[in-house]
Amino acid sequence: MDKQKLYHCIDDKSPRILGLSDQIWEYAELSMLENKSAKAYVEVLKAEGFLVETELCGIPTAFSGSYGSGRPRIGILGEYDALSGLSQQAGVAEKKPLVADGCGQGCGHNLLGAASLGAAIAIKEAIAEGKLKGTVIFYGCPGEEGCAGKTFMARDGLFKDLDAAITWHPGDTNEVTTGSNAACLQMVYEFAGTAAHAAGNPWEGRSALDGAEMMNMGVQFLREHMEPKCSIHYSIADAGGISPNVVQPKAKLVYMVRAETVRKAKALLARVNDIAKGAALMSGTEVTWHQLDGTSDTLSNTVLEELLYKNLQEAPMPEYTADERQFAADLRKTYPHEGLPGDNVETNPVLRKQIAALSDKGQKDINDFVVPYYPAYHYSPGSTDVGDVSWLTPTAQFNTATWPSRIPGHSWQVVSVGKSGMAHKGLLYAAKVLAGTAADLMEDPEILQKAREEFNETAAAGYECPIGPEVVPSAQ
Ligand SMILES: [Zn+2]
Ligand SMILES: [Zn+2]
Repeated sequence: MDKQKLYHCIDDKSPRILGLSDQIWEYAELSMLENKSAKAYVEVLKAEGFLVETELCGIPTAFSGSYGSGRPRIGILGEYDALSGLSQQAGVAEKKPLVADGCGQGCGHNLLGAASLGAAIAIKEAIAEGKLKGTVIFYGCPGEEGCAGKTFMARDGLFKDLDAAITWHPGDTNEVTTGSNAACLQMVYEFAGTAAHAAGNPWEGRSALDGAEMMNMGVQFLREHMEPKCSIHYSIADAGGISPNVVQPKAKLVYMVRAETVRKAKALLARVNDIAKGAALMSGTEVTWHQLDGTSDTLSNTVLEELLYKNLQEAPMPEYTADERQFAADLRKTYPHEGLPGDNVETNPVLRKQIAALSDKGQKDINDFVVPYYPAYHYSPGSTDVGDVSWLTPTAQFNTATWPSRIPGHSWQVVSVGKSGMAHKGLLYAAKVLAGTAADLMEDPEILQKAREEFNETAAAGYECPIGPEVVPSAQ
């Protein structure tokens, strides 16, 4: 079909799509608490004629909207959760919280969900007009930042009957995401001891805080003896109390254990659990633990990635006004960072040279070009629950530039730019790339077949869900 029609449809629907994005920016709801956001999405999906299912897998803020019938079944993934401590006024190039200690869309998920929905709407219109055949399904995936909502959805069997899933993420470049990232298991350890007067009768107390501290120290010694791509981080969620003259009877730690695969992460976790047991033994306390969530490493699919790259080039690149460029320059001055876009991942020398030329040696405030695609292996030390989808169906992702060059994710700058012209243009561009890609998949069974063949090889080991059946999704 003529992709210009898809692009026009997205432009025609842009008041609704951009309005939704701005609304989700205002709501800025934390993981698994996205009640107003989910409601706003469900309202738009219903108004657009999608068949809506809510409370997927028992999660109040997980939902889907599907349209069409039969195969192929193409999934488009959306997210909408925010981050704590990142409240920020829109459109100002200085740190100015909107609400003290409030939340903000520091990962651009207001844009993420809205663009994915925009693409689903354009495909729906094309199906309704008889130009495309198949089913498009928009998945409202909650809790990416704090609970790995997609993992719970994957555990319950969603995604596996799709022919392909596509998604994107806001960023500072227009670029296909390739390679893999870490699997991650998130755990809670609770130590229970006996309270006593810390001066009067400390011999009768057993300090849970001691147990927690010794566990952290034990893990510190473990770090030297892990495989290179592993990492472990922790927080002290409860140190017992604030009175030093009390032997603390309780303490709580939250741990993230990351490794190259779920299997390796589980093996490393077993060693962490042994350290917890040892710490409890040494401190004369009891320790219990439970899992909060988990994510799998990501399987890339070069067939789908090449298709995304083609569509990044076909869809019209945004053009920016002088004001938008000025705001990008002003914001960038608040985060002076030398180097080239993509410096945080290993890139090959040829690609680095090309990026240097395209970005004026990293001097551009807005990266208004498509980064060349090289299907080389990258390993990102972070984690995403898109990984779990990628083990169940051929999956691919890309970024568009929705914030200025070199601004990091999870920053007040991302919140500030999140309702601006630049963010809106990056959102609509992403929607067009997703819609164009979904249309190609619906029209060309050969691409889907090739993507499936590649998936069958990379996922041959089978999906090992990183969470057990006992783990329940929860806000943290
Ligand atoms: Zn994030
Ligand atoms: Zn994110």
